[in-house]
Amino acid sequence: MKIDIHELTNKSEVYFAGEQAVSLQGLNLSSHTDSSLVSVQGTVTKKGNRYLVRGNIASVIKLLCDRCTKEFEYPIHAELCKEFSADFTQVDEEDDVIHVTTSSIDLSDIIAEAVYLSLPMKSLCDEDCKGMCNVCGNNLNEKKCSCENADIDPRLENLKNIFHPQSEE
Ligand SMILES: [Zn+2]
Ligand SMILES: [Zn+2]
Repeated sequence: MKIDIHELTNKSEVYFAGEQAVSLQGLNLSSHTDSSLVSVQGTVTKKGNRYLVRGNIASVIKLLCDRCTKEFEYPIHAELCKEFSADFTQVDEEDDVIHVTTSSIDLSDIIAEAVYLSLPMKSLCDEDCKGMCNVCGNNLNEKKCSCENADIDPRLENLKNIFHPQSEE
């Protein structure tokens, strides 16, 4: 998403709103979707040669539960707050400011970053998800099965954690 900052030559603030697709590939997320559309809105405020971007990001991302593998919707709300500068000489290394070289500000990277930071470490459809029966594969949230020993063997649970370290409790 790009914001035209031309308007800021005679105004001190512009409002923006729109949608952007954020790639979910390579994030090791349990999801069927490669990217997700997020809604972004906010303002750009001009302060001298600097532009302060503040906004809100909202989306619903489809994830697969780490326990029962069922797809569920995970609502995301994230905040954007970043400074951009058109003046190279005034930016020192310590500043967390992004250089602007054109007449527009590209928010794509900071939007993607904010979305990544708001994603869960562990994908669960519900805190109390009962998971799947390790004998017949039945989703235990939906119905009980008559399998014996449906509880996960602690030794198997350990093995599972070795292969999927992110699913650790
Ligand atoms: Zn689940
Ligand atoms: Zn079963």
